[in-house]
This record gives sequence, C-alpha cells and structure tokens, in this order.
Amino acid sequence: MSVIHADQYPQPAGLYIHIPFCVTKCGYCSFTSYPCAGAPPRDYLAAVLKQAELMAAHPMVRDRCFGTIFIGGGTPTIYDGGELAHLLQNCLGLFRFASAPEITVEANPNTVDANKLQELREAGVNRLSIGVQAFSDRLLQKIHRSHTLNDALLAVKMARQAGFDNLNLDLIYGLPEQDLFDWQESITLALAQRPEHLSLYGLSVEEGTPFARLAERGELSLPDEDTVLRMESFAYGQLAQAGLSRYEISNFANPANRCRHNENYWRNGNYLGLGAAAVSCFEHLRFRQVAEPGKFVKLINAGQPPFVEVECLPPGAAFRETVIMALRMLGGIAVAELAERFGVTPQDYYGRIFIRLQEQGLLEVEEGFLRLTAKALPFANQVLAELV
Ligand code: SF4
Repeated sequence: MSVIHADQYPQPAGLYIHIPFCVTKCGYCSFTSYPCAGAPPRDYLAAVLKQAELMAAHPMVRDRCFGTIFIGGGTPTIYDGGELAHLLQNCLGLFRFASAPEITVEANPNTVDANKLQELREAGVNRLSIGVQAFSDRLLQKIHRSHTLNDALLAVKMARQAGFDNLNLDLIYGLPEQDLFDWQESITLALAQRPEHLSLYGLSVEEGTPFARLAERGELSLPDEDTVLRMESFAYGQLAQAGLSRYEISNFANPANRCRHNENYWRNGNYLGLGAAAVSCFEHLRFRQVAEPGKFVKLINAGQPPFVEVECLPPGAAFRETVIMALRMLGGIAVAELAERFGVTPQDYYGRIFIRLQEQGLLEVEEGFLRLTAKALPFANQVLAELV
C-alpha cells in the first residue's frame, strides 16, 4: 500500500440549506422532513440565517469561495417566495462566490404559483428541481403525494413562464402497483416538458417509513425485478434519444445542465450545510447537525453549536470514499486528479483488487479516467463495495 497524504481539493465549495417541512409525509420518505399543515415556522428561517451569519465569519469558512447554493428539503417552497428570496440574498451577501453560481431550489408542484416562481427567479435562483415522482394521479395517491398530475404540469408551465431555463424533474420507478405502461407514460410526459435534467430513482423501501410497515405486513405490491429492469431500459433509451445523457447513476442531463452542486458531492468536495439535519464537510472533517427543527432553533438562539456528530476521515478512508463517490459519475474521475489530491493512484492503492476488477471488465481506465464499465452499472453498488 502506498503513502497517501491529506486531500488538497482546490474547487469552490457548495452551500446547502435544509428546509425540513412538507405539506404531508410521503409513504416512502426517509428524509428529515416533518408534515406541516399550516404555515411553516417563521423562527426556523431566522435561525438558519443566524447560523449563516455565524458560519460566514468562522475561520474554517470565511476565506472559502462557494460555487453553488442548493435549498433542499423537505419542501423549501412551503415558504413564501419573499421569505426564500430574503434568505438567499442574505447568503449571497455573507459568503464569497465564484462567478455565476448555480442556485437551485427544490419545489413540490402544489407549493408554487406564478408569483412565487417569479420571486425566486428574480432573487437569482437559476435552477429549479421539481419533485414530480409520477405523472399519474392513481400512483401519486398510492405513494401519498400531496399534488396531482395537473399540479405538476402547471408547475412546469409556470416555471418556464417565470424564465427558468434549467429545470430538473424527479421521477421514481418501481412504485407499488406501477406497471411498465405507467412508467412509459411518465417518461413520455416528462420528456414532453423538455426538461434540461431528469433524476430517475428506483424505489427503495427504507426502514421506519410507512412503506416499510406495509411491506412487513405483506401489503406492499411492488413490480418484479424483470419489470424494473425493463423500466430502466425503456427510460435510458428514451432519454438518450431526447439528448439527456446519463452522467451519474440516477441523473441525466444536457451536457451544459449537469447539477454542479451534486457534482461537488460526487467529487467529495467541500460543503457547508445550514439548518436542521444538514451536514458540512471541510477537508473530510464532517459535522452533522441536530435533526429536529425545534431543537435546532433553540440551540442557535442560545448561541450553542447545533452539531450532534463530528467525524474526521483519515487520508486513506478519504481517498477510498472519493473513489467510490466519483465512480457514481459515468465519466469517472481523472487518475491524475486523484494522484494530485492524495499523492497516490487507484492502481497503486488498490493493487490486486484493481487488477481483478479490470480483468472482470467492471472497471476501466480510459484516456486517463477511471470509471465503471457499462457492464458494471446495473450492479454498481456491489462493485463499489469492493473498493470500500
Ligand atoms: S415531499 Fe419529499 S421530503 Fe417531503 S415527505 Fe415527500 S419525499 Fe419526503
């Protein structure tokens, strides 16, 4: 095993802001989000802003350059456009940004209207990610989404009218009682909206969710493996024809519209997280914040740090994590970049494991880039597990 040194990653960091509230809780959701029937708590945004002010002055953050902002959730658009614009504009003033930062807001279809979208666009939001999940009222009800197919179509139309030219739609396949025809219809309708970016996630039944409880009782009827494979194959073919190339295991985009914020995660870059359950990571020193929004507000208002977990990855673990995350991207990562960041190449570090995976046709180095082969992609997680 070779000598390895601490990561020296020079790219701009990402800024993530977590909004942990939703209209209702979806049946499959394992994210930190709490259903919120009425107006979301005002003191939460004030606390996030207070944390932004504190962190902007922190020695670990103050001289950094940021390249992206991502307001995610939960459902950020549960708040008014003016409130989100205020938060965003303050952040733009507090931190130092590279030119033309990518600024994304996640939205759910029934929490936006023309005014809100206009306010977000005018505040500098230049990427909108809409959680559609399925273009079928029957399936949306089945998975406990709080919006309809028409809400989704209208949200896309209003986003275009507000001037958004970088739109992502999230879709899920392998849903309960979803057949191949349902999925084909969702893909066809999604592509008819001409999105610049699509995220396609296979349903995963996570512990603690209502779906997990249904599955335990034998009441969750999911499509079989063969149908799921056919869903993937149909989608990949249609998206390629529409010019959306697969650049990450679950993400497809026009080449100019890849999500820069997520690419920073996949390159294991640095990022600052604000809000409940947010995670920050600088030079592989990782801080996780308290998940419960009320506790987050209390700690911030009391001047106490909201961290519940701190983890410091040694260089070897940071190197392996960087390789594994980068291999999620179909373009992989330059061997020279890894060597510059850590002082070691993956060939030297992994030795015989690397040679075996290459011989099995699962891993390749082409024109200096390390990547998974097309053969490895359908079972990428098993291949990546060999490199942990
Ligand atoms: S809208 Fe998203 S974050 Fe909110 S409950 Fe549904 S899946 Fe979870």
